[in-house]
Amino acid sequence: MKPYIIVLALLGTFFASAQDHSHTGAQPFHYPDIEGYKTLKTDLHMHTVFSDGSVWPNIRVQEALRENLDAISLTEHLEYQPHLADIPHPDRNRSYTIAMQEAKNHDLLIVHGSEITRSSPIGHNNAVFIKDANKLMAEDGLTPFKEAKKQGAFVFWNHPAWYAQNPDGNPTLSDFQKERITNGELHGIEVINAFDYAEESLALALEQNLTIMGTSDIHGLIDWDYTEKGNHRPITLVFAKEKNLERMQEALFSGRTVAVYNDLLVGKEEFLNPLIKASIEVITATYLENTSIVKLELKNNSSSDLLFENIMDFTFYDSSPIFTIKGLETKTVHVKTLKKLDVLNLKLKALGAYNAPKQHPVITWAIPLK
Ligand code: ZN
Repeated sequence: MKPYIIVLALLGTFFASAQDHSHTGAQPFHYPDIEGYKTLKTDLHMHTVFSDGSVWPNIRVQEALRENLDAISLTEHLEYQPHLADIPHPDRNRSYTIAMQEAKNHDLLIVHGSEITRSSPIGHNNAVFIKDANKLMAEDGLTPFKEAKKQGAFVFWNHPAWYAQNPDGNPTLSDFQKERITNGELHGIEVINAFDYAEESLALALEQNLTIMGTSDIHGLIDWDYTEKGNHRPITLVFAKEKNLERMQEALFSGRTVAVYNDLLVGKEEFLNPLIKASIEVITATYLENTSIVKLELKNNSSSDLLFENIMDFTFYDSSPIFTIKGLETKTVHVKTLKKLDVLNLKLKALGAYNAPKQHPVITWAIPLK
C-alpha cells in the first residue's frame, strides 16, 4: 500500500471507532462558550430505580450522551425509596457508582448527589458534589444540611413553587431556609423544574443571591417526556473556567449559570447577556446595491429558538420587528439605515430571555458593514 493509503486506512479506522463510541442522538445540545468561560450543559436533578425513577442508572448516562450534555447528577431521594423491597441497597452511593462505571470512557462528568426529601417547610433539596450519601441520612431535618456543608456540597432548593407543597404555586421562603442561606447551607434554587417555570423563584434567586438552576427532575425516559414531543429537557448552563468537576463546582458556588428550557432562558444579566450575544453569529452584513438597505444574515449557534424584538431606530424592510431565529438555523433580515454606515449597532431585545421577572435583556452587536 502507498503511504497515503495507509494513512487514509488508519484515519478511517479512527473515525469508525470514534463514531462507534458516540451516543449522540437526534437532538444534541449546542451552546457557545462565553468570554473567559466554557459553557457546560448540565442536568443536576434526576432519578433512577435507586429512588422513585423507572430506569437503571446506565440509561441516564446514555441519555445524557445522546443529548451531548457535559455533566449530570443522579439525585436519588434519600428518604423516599419505593423500590427498596425489590432493590435493597444499604449503600446509598450505588446509583452514583454505577453511573461512574458507565461513563468511564466518555467525556461526561458525573456529579455525586442526593435529594434531601422532607415535607414543608424544609421541602426537597439537592446536595451535589457530596462525598458520601449515607452520611446525609438522619431522623431530623437539620443534620443532612450540616453534613452536606461538611462534605463541601452545593445545595439547591428543588421546585420551590410545587403546588403539592404550595397550593397557590408560589414559593414561600421559610425561616428554616433563611437560616440555611445565612449558614451557607443553601446556595441555589430551581427556577425551572421539569415543565414548570416560576418567576417568583427567579425573584427569590435575585433577592437572596442564590444560583439559578434548571433541571429535568426526570423519573421516566427523556425521550418520552421531551425528545419525541420536539422538546429538550430543561438544563443549567454552567460557566466554568475549565471542563472539570472542581471548576464546575466553583462556578455553581459563584452563581455563574443560565437555566434553559427550549426557548426560555433565565439568568443573571452578567451571564445571560454574553450567552445571547455569543449565540448570534453574523454571516453576512452588506448593503444591497445602490441602496441604504443592509442585508443581515444571522446565525443562531444555540439549540434554543431565540425570539427578538428590533428596538433600533432603524426599521426592517421585510420582517416583523418581532422575529425568531430558530435553534442552529440562519435568518435573513434587511435593515433600512437611511444612509450608508460603516458600522451598524444592531440592538435587539431578547423576548424569550429573562434576567429578572418581566425583564428582558437588550443586546447590541457592533457589525462592520460593507
Ligand atoms: Zn427529584
